[in-house]
Amino acid sequence: MTGVEGMQAQKDKGPHLVLFPIPFQGHLNPMLQLATLLHSKGFSITIIHTNFNAPNPSNYPSFNFEPIPDGLSDDRVAAMDPIALVAALNVVCKAPFEELLGRLVLENPYGPIKCIISDAMMHFTQEVAAHLDIPRIVIRTSSAISFAAFAAFPLLRQKGYLAVKDHQSKVPVPELPPLRCKDLPSNGFATSDPNALYHLMTHMVDGTRAASGVIWNAFDYLERSALMKIGQDFQIPNFSVGPLHKHASSSSCSLLPQDHSCIAWLDKQVHGSVLYVSFGSLAAMDESELVETAWGLADSNRHFLWVVRPGSVHGSDWVDLPKGFEEKTEGRCLVVKWAPQQEVLAHPAVGGFWTHGGWNSTLESICEGVPMICSPWFSDQRVNARYVDHVWRVGMQLDNGFERGEIEQAIRRLMVGNDGQEMRTRIKVLKENADGCLREGGSSYESLNSLKDYILSL
Ligand code: UDP
Repeated sequence: MTGVEGMQAQKDKGPHLVLFPIPFQGHLNPMLQLATLLHSKGFSITIIHTNFNAPNPSNYPSFNFEPIPDGLSDDRVAAMDPIALVAALNVVCKAPFEELLGRLVLENPYGPIKCIISDAMMHFTQEVAAHLDIPRIVIRTSSAISFAAFAAFPLLRQKGYLAVKDHQSKVPVPELPPLRCKDLPSNGFATSDPNALYHLMTHMVDGTRAASGVIWNAFDYLERSALMKIGQDFQIPNFSVGPLHKHASSSSCSLLPQDHSCIAWLDKQVHGSVLYVSFGSLAAMDESELVETAWGLADSNRHFLWVVRPGSVHGSDWVDLPKGFEEKTEGRCLVVKWAPQQEVLAHPAVGGFWTHGGWNSTLESICEGVPMICSPWFSDQRVNARYVDHVWRVGMQLDNGFERGEIEQAIRRLMVGNDGQEMRTRIKVLKENADGCLREGGSSYESLNSLKDYILSL
């Protein structure tokens, strides 16, 4: 058997699943991790993907990759915020997705399709799957707690909460305790149509309700009540199989090259002394916020590793850090464009994480027992940050955006204060429970087996 034949034989080995991710880092990672997990359970995997932000097939020799043209020019992509882009993908991908699936059904190159697993935000896939009579399961790559907030959008709008202009309002939302108005998912992009998130997420929720099942990047111990409530309200099979990154690293799905030099730098730092700072793959700040961030970090006198991604500041590919910053932080700071985040958080030198509260980042931090400072930007991040701060009490939220004095104080509180120590103790308990859920007999372990049986029964 030649190498290629061997690879094909391996690819063809089991019941065939077609997976369709959203082409953003925070969505690709859990989808490809799920693919790896399901492949290890004996399924053969085809990934349908857009040309925009396409994953690298050579990192996944066991999967089939099928591109669909998205017709989005670089200029058009650059002109849209992520919410508008996902809304556009739901329109432009429909015809090519249906055409490709039709061809896969007709020509059968990888075996009959057992089911489609689509990112829940690619809601158009429900109609296509129904049309072709293929079962469709969705994966929700963010938290169950934030899904509950999206599911409540129509009610929240009816009661006037979504009209609250002041996103700093601490007025409680009794329908969704412990959220306050400022914690409700919001668009967060000044350029966007204020209704865009509402429309996208209500379609996402409707498409989830119509699906044959939902897979959560969640573990029961952390989000038990939200998962139970969704289970009751939605009456469709639920599978919480997370945290998915514990099954497969996200390095192979990284869209940007990860700068591994930071690991050698971390090796030289004292245990627990370094604050890791990264706001994920999409969040962008104003130049004045960058300046406040830089001085807050510098004034804290702590050691820090800071990811300043190309695009971190609105409208510029790269940014100059303020004059005098380098001198003031010499010997205790490293700035990189993109880091191997999981490895960084697992490094013993890292004692805190200043994050935007993206769900992958939150789970990755919990799984390494690293307490957080949260500066949420948009969508689910505000909900996640509220739970980190107020419910799980494993981090703190910055209340006033980016202000150097508040940043400095929060960093000291997290890295050297008693509060930080208590958060560290609490997050270690969450970490142990995450590990327990994944072990044989644990809830995620069992849920994965149920998912396998369920798919085979479709
Ligand atoms: N990430 C990374 N290197 C970095 C920053 C982030 O590999 O320097 C990864 C991180 O581990 C996570 C993903 O990018 O898996 C970001 O997802 P998240 O949901 O936290 O935020 P998003 O980018 O979707 O806003």
